[in-house]
Amino acid sequence: MSLDFTQWSCPLPLRDYPNIVVGHGGGGKLTTELIQHLFAPAFDDPALHQRGDAAVLPLDGARLAISTDSFVVRPLFFPGGSIGELAVNGTINDLAMMGAQPRYLTAGFIVEEGLPLAQLGVIVERMAAAARAAGVRIVAGDTKVVDKGHGDGVFINTTGIGVIPDGVSIGPDRARPGDGVLINGSIGDHGMAIMSVREGLQFETTIASDTAPLHGLVAAMLEAAPGAVHVLRDPTRGGLAAALNEIAVASRVGIQIDERALPVSADVQAACELLGIDPIYVANEGKLVAFVAQEAVETVLACMRAHPLGRGAAVIGRVVEQPAGLVTARTAIGGARVIPMPLGEQLPRIC
Ligand code: MG
Repeated sequence: MSLDFTQWSCPLPLRDYPNIVVGHGGGGKLTTELIQHLFAPAFDDPALHQRGDAAVLPLDGARLAISTDSFVVRPLFFPGGSIGELAVNGTINDLAMMGAQPRYLTAGFIVEEGLPLAQLGVIVERMAAAARAAGVRIVAGDTKVVDKGHGDGVFINTTGIGVIPDGVSIGPDRARPGDGVLINGSIGDHGMAIMSVREGLQFETTIASDTAPLHGLVAAMLEAAPGAVHVLRDPTRGGLAAALNEIAVASRVGIQIDERALPVSADVQAACELLGIDPIYVANEGKLVAFVAQEAVETVLACMRAHPLGRGAAVIGRVVEQPAGLVTARTAIGGARVIPMPLGEQLPRIC
């Protein structure tokens, strides 16, 4: 079989890039285009078109949530965690964003020749501890080794399976005008923890990653106000801005946020100013944004604040009818601005 790539044509044009760029992995517009124009048409399955954080699939009367995620963060260890915790918590969170209770994980390792065995050992122990703490079993795995110089220490893929309780119905297309938009704490911590290590930045305190499993918090929220939580999303790559834009498009609604209401720590704010980055575009690994029916906002907010992972919870905005598909922000000085979907990668290899 000859491999003549010139015969292949993309079902729909992918901007002007003939080759993959780092931004295609950034969780912004370029990633969305790659999925919409290349992967989704090729694999064409209704579950892929749901565009949730995990696919929701019926099985013998139950509903399963399934998600897969690969982790390529550099460096492998950083304040607040390592690639090991990220690989476990990240996939747990994608299941939790569909309201699922995570049950099982698989773990695939692509290891670079020369990686000290002690480093791999610590990463694996941290994965095991994170899974135990979350009550999730790691039940299958795979190991591949690539030649020195062809990896970056270790890449990890995890796939997760969870069960969605009866009566829970959460999806990115369920935001309704009037819904309140809530977040469980300060934004930008994970991305800035990685960047300050890479850039050697010093602040009064060390900025630590917020990596954490969110399924316990989600379960408490769903119990506090049954049926009132319409949408959940973990604002990882592309930050809060990307998450809100995806929901505005999927639900065909406008989202108005109040910039003054966004929780940002002083150190993250300082790091962002130094690097010329807006914290609304910076990755989080232990945060969720929730769209909640208006009448239940106070109940859900109180429930979040009572949970260890929601002490800094805040209402940051609301859903409006128009302009549909657009995220706008009221600025600190009273103006309004559009918060666009990021194009590509502001901070590469962040998770
Ligand atoms: Mg996600």
